[in-house]
Amino acid sequence: MRTINFNAGPAALPLPALERAQRELLDFAQSGMSVMEHSHRGKQYEAVHDEALSLIRELLGVPDDYDVLFLQGGATQQFAMVPMNLLPAGKSADYVVTGAWGEKAFSEAKTVGKMLGATARLALSTGVGDGKEKSYTRAPSSSEFTSAVDPAAAYVHYTSNETIHGVEIFDVPSVGAVPLVCDMSSDFLWRKVDVSKFGLIYAGAQKNLGPSGVTVVIAKKSLVASGRSDIPKIFQYRVHAENKSLYNTPPTFGVYLARNVLSWIKDSGGLAQIEAWNREKARLLYGALDAHPDFYRCPVEKSARSVMNVVFRLPTEALEEELIAAAKAAKMVGIKGHRSVGGIRVSTYNAVSVEWVQALVNLLDEFARARR
Ligand code: PMP
Repeated sequence: MRTINFNAGPAALPLPALERAQRELLDFAQSGMSVMEHSHRGKQYEAVHDEALSLIRELLGVPDDYDVLFLQGGATQQFAMVPMNLLPAGKSADYVVTGAWGEKAFSEAKTVGKMLGATARLALSTGVGDGKEKSYTRAPSSSEFTSAVDPAAAYVHYTSNETIHGVEIFDVPSVGAVPLVCDMSSDFLWRKVDVSKFGLIYAGAQKNLGPSGVTVVIAKKSLVASGRSDIPKIFQYRVHAENKSLYNTPPTFGVYLARNVLSWIKDSGGLAQIEAWNREKARLLYGALDAHPDFYRCPVEKSARSVMNVVFRLPTEALEEELIAAAKAAKMVGIKGHRSVGGIRVSTYNAVSVEWVQALVNLLDEFARARR
């Protein structure tokens, strides 16, 4: 039996994608060797690489005037690469911060700005309190977001899903002609989005796409072309786009497994089906929590409750520990909240089935009844 895995990332992967990797591991495409042992310049690997890129285009409906890139260094590297490429000297970039990851992106942009004679500006933060104690429980309204943005900004950056705080921004903000840059790491591919509204989207793979080690960037070609060229080549989007993400050796096994996951999404009925499952999981889980409002407390405002990372508290930390232990006894892992905020966090990425969530819902219900 598979362990029921609610990890925040690296996270559960779809069983069919893993089984395919298992079947193909020792003899990939009848080559007598694994995909990991192939040259990244060879035909067999290239077919996988191209298929993974084109599946992302197909599933998300990526317009032709956008590049899709596979990079390394995680979403964290994008915190630096975005300003390195898109923030010209003398200009300013806007940051909308709704949680811990947005804070990190902003902090890195300030550092890069100093290096390159540019600035990063905190356009809007929904944080309450100071320092490590800062809490984030809401998403800005569309008009609040729009009016915070400087029309002269080089770009505006936001985090569509804050993985630690469980805050999600569902509507794509309107920011006029300012390029919209989004860290979609933890809500990439949970549903279809209108890519044409963005200048650049980035996401680490290890939630909905595959193993860690691959980072996806989807960027408007004109933005890539206008990016700075006075930075090292390895950090230029342009160079990766010109070389079809084969400028240097890519993480071939990660891309291969992403291909398997993307094929699984397609075979499952595409992102419409994936979205339907995700909405059902969120409905079940938040429903179970709301059914015991005197026992479970969700700090996030209802309209901003993440579909991917469900965070909540119990009356005491001791009870939270007890719940984690009860889940473990039922072969469920990964529900401990991030160490910086505590509490419980249940991540329900694409590979987490409705059945798994139902099993947890049953446990939550029983647990609340028994301890009240
Ligand atoms: N942004 C978000 C929203 C994340 O959830 C994470 C990782 N959990 C990161 C950035 C950092 O990603 P990485 O560890 O891949 O650099």
